[in-house]
Amino acid sequence: IDILAPRKNSSGLNMNIHSQGDEFFDKIRSFQNNHWQGGPIVNGELIEADHRVAVTSPQQTSHQMGTIGWGDAKLAEKALTSANKAFPAWTRTKADERAVKLEKLADLLEENMHELIALCTLEAGKGLQDGIDEVREAVDFCRYYAIKARELMGEGEALPGPTGEKNELFVQGRGTFVCISPWNFPLAIFLGQVSAALATGNCVIAKPAEQTGLVAYRAVQLALEAGIPGDVLHFVPGNGGEIGAYLVGQENIGGVCFTGSTNTAQSINRALAARTGAIVPLIAETGGQNAMMVDSTALPEQVVTDVVHSAFTSAGQRCSALRVIYVQDDIADRVIELLKGAMKELIVGDPIDHKTDVGPVIDGVAKTNLEQHIIDIQQAGKLIGEAPMPEYTQGGTFVAPTAIEIDSISQLVRENFGPILHVIRFKHKDIDKVIDDINNTGFGLTFGIHSRNETFAYDVARRINVGNVYINRNQIGAVVGVQPFGGQGLSGTGPKAGGPHYLYAFMTEKTFTDNI
Ligand code: GLU
Repeated sequence: IDILAPRKNSSGLNMNIHSQGDEFFDKIRSFQNNHWQGGPIVNGELIEADHRVAVTSPQQTSHQMGTIGWGDAKLAEKALTSANKAFPAWTRTKADERAVKLEKLADLLEENMHELIALCTLEAGKGLQDGIDEVREAVDFCRYYAIKARELMGEGEALPGPTGEKNELFVQGRGTFVCISPWNFPLAIFLGQVSAALATGNCVIAKPAEQTGLVAYRAVQLALEAGIPGDVLHFVPGNGGEIGAYLVGQENIGGVCFTGSTNTAQSINRALAARTGAIVPLIAETGGQNAMMVDSTALPEQVVTDVVHSAFTSAGQRCSALRVIYVQDDIADRVIELLKGAMKELIVGDPIDHKTDVGPVIDGVAKTNLEQHIIDIQQAGKLIGEAPMPEYTQGGTFVAPTAIEIDSISQLVRENFGPILHVIRFKHKDIDKVIDDINNTGFGLTFGIHSRNETFAYDVARRINVGNVYINRNQIGAVVGVQPFGGQGLSGTGPKAGGPHYLYAFMTEKTFTDNI
């Protein structure tokens, strides 16, 4: 098989070509003082919500960038009734027809890229490069799932049988999918879930994260403009405890696709089990206590570059982000010394400035939790270094990127979804114990290895129970169709977003045996 054909990922932007870069910045800046107004969209119509919420920027919490109307359980009920009514016709449309609409959506995302990037930076505090990558990933998801749906959902698959009998296997949508997405990829994961569900003939009720409703709102507007019918895709922003809880408790849903915390995934799982209706799948992608192992053959400079990138990009607010590095004692002093230097060089500040390395964390609650984690863990460990915090950071929810040496991964009991890196020294004779310790966390999302000993690297990689292993590079930024992404254990139910089998999780199969 030619694995590179026929699909291509969306193209990037070469900021070294000044004319491209300048025009790009001007366009992004033109949205800086926009005041966006969003709200629920049910049956293709913007609903006037009684409850409107001000949206502020994490980098300057005094900057109000818009407002969004919140829906409630009653509205979610209306959306579900309408979606279930639309399902039979939508699931019977040709996969190609649905795919064409998703491809149109991808084009519209590219056309509106500057506004979407501005929204990602302003609403979610994402850096410029993150914003660019976010739009590209959303585009890739739409195009990739469109292609896969055509491939998997076209004709039925003929199966063998006795003479005179015809056997065929068909796939189809499951019903109405409840898609609950996170704030850390407010466009890419939001649309990744939605496009996978739509491509496979499901209707969708999309519930974005409370912090990032506006960018999701724009995405839904574009989806409707691309031709997705209004009764097929509904958008109900609002309180997760109310809307999410209502929807996952309903009998007549086709499935739930969730990305977010392990605790919430577990409570959705319990709610689904407690219903009396159809037994439906939960597709969950949650966090990780992601580790990297560095042995004595590794190149310290390359290690530190990849470690800093993996731990602090997106202010460490990626499920894939590196939380703990295990460094073999022979080279630990050298790696720690280089890391100390790199921490001092990190530029924390305005996400829209292309010189910035680390932007804010999502909100005040996250900041408080992370800072408490730093205080607690320092009592058990030793500070390696932290990045300087310029005055600009006073106005937003910034947390100083911090590296701390600790003794054991079991010390990490508190949530640390942010720019905090832990370093543990290990001796080669203890390798089995290190592997057990990592596996015993119960999480299994990403794992990195730096080593020039291929046998060692592959042996360890096979024994660590995770969804994504990266050898001699950074361990974030999975690319659609290239590094299918998703974990196991406490990190999720496994289907790989952006992978060739992901769509099966959204489908049901039907066998026709015909003896006419
Ligand atoms: N796919 C992203 C990455 O590889 C992480 C997604 C997430 O944080 O949920 O960095």
